Order: sequence, then C-alpha cells, then structure tokens
Amino acid sequence: MKEKIRVSEIEELALLLDNELNISEGIDALNQYVNSGCFANWKCPKEHSCNEKISVIYRRKHKCFYCSGRLIWSGENDLQTLYPELAKEFDIECNGVEPKNVEVPNAFLEFYRKVQ
Ligand SMILES: [Zn+2]
Repeated sequence: MKEKIRVSEIEELALLLDNELNISEGIDALNQYVNSGCFANWKCPKEHSCNEKISVIYRRKHKCFYCSGRLIWSGENDLQTLYPELAKEFDIECNGVEPKNVEVPNAFLEFYRKVQ
C-alpha cells in the first residue's frame, strides 16, 4: 500500500531536511512522499549531516543515525571517544580499522587486542 503522505506534512521529518543544500542541488524534498526512494540531504539539530533516501529516514522514525548511535560520528560516539581506555588495547593493524571508526556496540564483540 502506498502512503500518500508528503514530507511537508510531517513536521519532525521536514525539520531534519537540509533545505539549503537540497535547494542548491535542485531537490524538492518537501513535496516528495514519505516512502519516496529519492535521496535528500539531512541535518539534525546537532549538525550531523547525511545523504539518505527519504523513505529510510521516515522508516527510522525521523531519527538521526548518528544521534541514535546507528552510525559513527567520529569524535562523538566512536570507541576512541567514548572508551579511550578500551581503545588503547585496540590493535589497529589486526582489526584493520581505527578505534575512531568503530561503533560502540561492535566494540563489545571480540576484537584483536594488542599483545602487551
Ligand atoms: Zn544527529
């Protein structure tokens, strides 16, 4: 079933749009339907920005991926920032990733620690 709701009708969703960038790129996001597969630019009140499908942001209940911890915003919700002590044991070479690019839920899974 198609949901005939436009982005402009859902205030929380409309507020997340980065209108300045969308306008400069010719994206008329406000007039799209909420289940649209069109990509738009988004910016939350904490200035996290992303380019994502309208339908995805709608289905995620208009939550910013970074504020909700689903994606890493380096310097805010990564392993290095939240758990600096744990990050010291993180072996960058074996893990193939730096702790500032590791999501915290993943940090509690097994990872290679440096041999002391
Ligand atoms: Zn955010």
